[in-house]
Amino acid sequence: MVRSSNGHKIRTVSHSYAMPSVIRLNRYVHAPYKGVTLTRQNVFKRDNSECQYCGTRRDLTLDHVIPSSRGGAHSWQNLVTACKKCNAKKGNYTPEEAGMQLKRKPFKPSYALFLRDITGSNHNEWDDFLEAKSA
Ligand SMILES: [Zn+2]
Repeated sequence: MVRSSNGHKIRTVSHSYAMPSVIRLNRYVHAPYKGVTLTRQNVFKRDNSECQYCGTRRDLTLDHVIPSSRGGAHSWQNLVTACKKCNAKKGNYTPEEAGMQLKRKPFKPSYALFLRDITGSNHNEWDDFLEAKSA
């Protein structure tokens, strides 16, 4: 299955074909790694570079929702973007204990979510192939 975008064409001497922007493989091809790597930059990206407590975009750092000193994992589900002020205020507490509310429950982003961000927002021809972001 081939779908084209932008009207780009591939020309041969006698024919022209719609330039494929999406090619669906009919057979699964082994992909070495499909997940999004857990890095500081990718956590920021998932959280739109906003502190998940107060919403600022300044002085951002990573916050362990359950502090690592108390067994909190270094995982997508336990890491959020936080500004240094909120991070210091929260200290060694959980959000509940610190009386701080997370804007959104941290989640593992799907590869599709990041891919969409990289390629821009107008590639609607992908929509049939991508599932909604994973929860
Ligand atoms: Zn903050």
